[in-house]
Amino acid sequence: MRLVMKFGGTSVGNAERIRAAAEIVRKYRGEETLVVTSAMSGVTDRLVEISEKVLNGVDEGYIKNFIKYLENKHFKALKEINSSENTEFFNEISDMLSELEKVLIGVSYVGELTPRSRDFILSFGERLVAPLVSAAIEKSGVKSGWYTGYEAGIVTDQNFGDATPDFEETAERVNSILYPRLKEIVPVVTGFVAADFRGRITTLGRGGSDYTAAILGSVLEADEIWIWTDVDGILTADPRLVEDARIIKEISYIEAMELAYFGAKVLHPKSIEPAMEKGIPVRVKNSFKPDSPGTVIVNEQEKTNDIVKAISIKGNAVLLTVSGVGMIGVPGVAARVFKALADKKVNILMISQGSSEANISMVIDQGDIDNAVIALKEEFIGANIVRDVNYNEDVSIVAVVGTGMKGTEGVAARVFKAISDAGVNVVMIAQGSSEVNISFVVGSEDAGKAAKALHREFIET
Ligand code: ADP
Ligand code: ASP
Ligand code: MG
Repeated sequence: MRLVMKFGGTSVGNAERIRAAAEIVRKYRGEETLVVTSAMSGVTDRLVEISEKVLNGVDEGYIKNFIKYLENKHFKALKEINSSENTEFFNEISDMLSELEKVLIGVSYVGELTPRSRDFILSFGERLVAPLVSAAIEKSGVKSGWYTGYEAGIVTDQNFGDATPDFEETAERVNSILYPRLKEIVPVVTGFVAADFRGRITTLGRGGSDYTAAILGSVLEADEIWIWTDVDGILTADPRLVEDARIIKEISYIEAMELAYFGAKVLHPKSIEPAMEKGIPVRVKNSFKPDSPGTVIVNEQEKTNDIVKAISIKGNAVLLTVSGVGMIGVPGVAARVFKALADKKVNILMISQGSSEANISMVIDQGDIDNAVIALKEEFIGANIVRDVNYNEDVSIVAVVGTGMKGTEGVAARVFKAISDAGVNVVMIAQGSSEVNISFVVGSEDAGKAAKALHREFIET
């Protein structure tokens, strides 16, 4: 069996966890196995934080302390994993840290952080861990080596911060670089990190290690992709919001895709499609309890009586409303709105237009709000069409997902009754939700309440 196994942040969070990951690889690997690793948990967040801090100017002592923090964390783990001093690994990590230090000092001097330099900084989280995971695998008696995503052959566009691979080129490169090695070693590849055609480092969006695993699984035509994380699989709701969330044994690609798109952090939204296209089963498993079965994502799930599979919540969203009586009966306003936003790379998560045509509402990510407002102001300035651009800063999308809803009558009525009984106000409902998903918007303060009420209505009973 050809397997791609991805270990998430908590699963490689310290020496003990890295050793546990190596043990999992030793025990469960197929004849050919490839490992993808995330950064240690919390490290990418710290890299994001420091890249923003240095931009506003900090002294070199601050940067040195940060480098010391990373050094302690990774050297400590390396020592515990590989007690016989392995200077080669120590040197590699040292070199990376001094490179990072130089970049951070550079950013603080220049006072400019481009998306490209930000990606370069963020890449260190995964790059510092891959040698450790590889060392632990070697220590357990299995031959290994490590690669950055780019060295492994993943080539992306230049959309820094949220890059997409060129699958054709990637397939060619990965199959000539990694494929021949699979027979001899277990390669460890940095998740999340790749590079464009010119070799400039790109990242695949937060949580992107899952995507790396899916990309590599797809181009190598793996038999299965296993995502090792810190929960028992895909659950019926985010366990941080709904205590009684349960494990889903089997779920379809479409359902998993909808859940991931609407905020189930356990999988990166883009990580399902490559697997689905090739029909590769994806398993989500708990690295703390490797023997428990976890969730399997497949094409056609076993017949169940479930109408709703799971509830997910996507927070940190903004409801943006464009309005003006001048919009009534003027053709092409919606098209102009969407084009202006697309040109500024603002991703629209949900759309709704009132039948009066006097307004269009959209949900976007909080991080896109400045670009969105600028884009709309530029597009409509002086034109007597759009009068107002308003936004409601803290909303969440609630999604109710399940293929069983297809053709079942009265589901929407039950959804909205449960929500209203819980005293939650619905801010917006999307037009044309897909048949496997009903989604709507609530104030973020109500998101947990909404998730609990729906979980009770559809899953606990
Ligand atoms: P990793 O570092 O392993 O990729 P993540 O933190 O990215 O881990 O994703 C796992 C987390 O996703 C879980 O700890 C859980 O809190 C959260 N989560 C949100 N929704 C779900 C869900 N429906 N099922 C499972 N986990 C979920
Ligand atoms: N380390 C990256 C992040 O925190 C990628 C990942 O964990 O999948 O976003
Ligand atoms: Mg993740």
